[in-house]
Order: sequence, then structure tokens, then C-alpha cells
Amino acid sequence: MAPLATTMDILKLLNKSNCRACYEKTCLAFAAAVFKGKRHLSECPLLEQEVLDRYAGTVIKRKTVEEDQEEVLAHLKSQVIQRNLEVAAKNIGGSFANNRLTAKIFGKDFSIDGEGNLYSDIHINPWVTIPFLSHILTSDGSAPAGKWTPLRELKNGQSWQGLFNQRCEKPLKRVADAYTDIFEDLIHIFNGKAVEKHYQSDISLVLNPFPRVPLLICYWRPDEGLESDLHLFFDQFVERHLSIEGLFGLGAGLVRMFEKIALRHGAGIAT
Ligand code: SF4
Repeated sequence: MAPLATTMDILKLLNKSNCRACYEKTCLAFAAAVFKGKRHLSECPLLEQEVLDRYAGTVIKRKTVEEDQEEVLAHLKSQVIQRNLEVAAKNIGGSFANNRLTAKIFGKDFSIDGEGNLYSDIHINPWVTIPFLSHILTSDGSAPAGKWTPLRELKNGQSWQGLFNQRCEKPLKRVADAYTDIFEDLIHIFNGKAVEKHYQSDISLVLNPFPRVPLLICYWRPDEGLESDLHLFFDQFVERHLSIEGLFGLGAGLVRMFEKIALRHGAGIAT
């Protein structure tokens, strides 16, 4: 029996009905949680006992993160191309022409055509492409609420807050501590916008990963014995456009981008 080595191997065992009886939004989200060790296969109540027995005690021999991302990307692309891209483009605030859906990712054009081919002026990076394709599949086209909220206060955010803080906010803070000019770079490179200071932060900056998924970054400099701090805030209605897993993926992608920019400037980042 082949080991369960990837998210897609796990997904193949599920019935793909996205029934949510496991409290995940989709079977793919459940498979990803099992792959990461956060959930157990037996938590899908629709799996036959025979399947559970067959895989009981199976050591998951993981593929590399890149290999897993490739498989998730291929799966998402196969779902996206079954959608009406013209409708999807409207939902996400993009455009549709010549059989291509185009939207601004961090202010730069990014397209997918009806065959699943991707086009972009920026480097096509799976850390951004995976949340983008999920966004196309999730967005209901509604307008943002225009009110910022931390991840923990989103409907499904509470259980992800700890991981989000460890894997996204803390690493972003370390980069900002080592290279505070990063905020100016983000304005230039990613069409960010400095905004009125929120929550008494020293720096508040809005990025637009996707048109209907704005992101507020607040940074507090160290002050009189107090450590610096950094938090991300999302639009109150963001889950109508991207699942909580997608937001986590986006945060992880931001960490990669921050680190690349800082390294280019020779900033030493303590881990
Ligand atoms: S309970 Fe099983 S079939 Fe239903 S969404 Fe979760 S993983 Fe998919």
C-alpha cells in the first residue's frame, strides 16, 4: 500500500463533497490539516471503517513542501478552469478578456486562462498563487466591510490565531525589527499605502494582495523597555473571499517576501 505522502494522496480518499461535517470548509482543507498533523483521518465521519483500518498507523512519508504545493496548485487549477471565469473575475474585482481572468495581485496584473495557464508581470510564486486560486473559488463578489479586524476575531480565526502568530506575525516582526525601511520598500514594490496610524501603532500600511482582500500591517517600535510588536488585520468580511487557510497561506507568503527584501538589503534577521 502506497503511503499517504501528500495532501492530494489524502484528498483522494475523501468523497470531495465538501459537506463540512468535519467542520472544515472543504475536503481539501481537511486533507491539508491531516497532512500537517493538525487533524486525524478518522475525523471525517464519511470515511469507511475499512479505509481507516487500511491507513491506520501509516507513516506519512512527506514530500517536500514544494512538491506538495505543486500538487495543490494542480488541483486548484483543475477546479478553477471548470468555473465561469467571466463571473469569477467580477466576483474578485478583476476583469475578463481573451479567455483570461486578470486581477491585480499587490497592484500587478496576474492572469489565468481557461486552460489553467498563468501569466504575470511578477514572479509566479506558489505562496501567492495558491491563495489567489482559492480566492477565485471562494469569492462571492460582496463588497468589503471597510472595518479592520484581527484574525482571531474572524468567524474561523480563533483556532488559527496561535499558528498565525507564530508562523506569520512573529517572523514579520523580526524582519521589521532588523530592517524597518522594509515598510518604504513595500510601498514601492507592492503598491502599498501608508495610512493613518491604527491602534496607536508607529507605522500602519495597507497592502492589497487581491482587490477584495486588503491587509493592514501595524508595527509598534520598541519603546522604553517594551518590545516591538507587529500585527496583521483583515477586512471583517474577508472570509467571504478567502478561507482562513488561504489567509494563513497569504501570511506565510508575506513572510517569504519580507525575508527576501530584507536579505537583498543585507539585514541580519535573528530567528
Ligand atoms: S467530513 Fe469528510 S467529506 Fe465532509 S468536508 Fe470533511 S473531509 Fe470532506
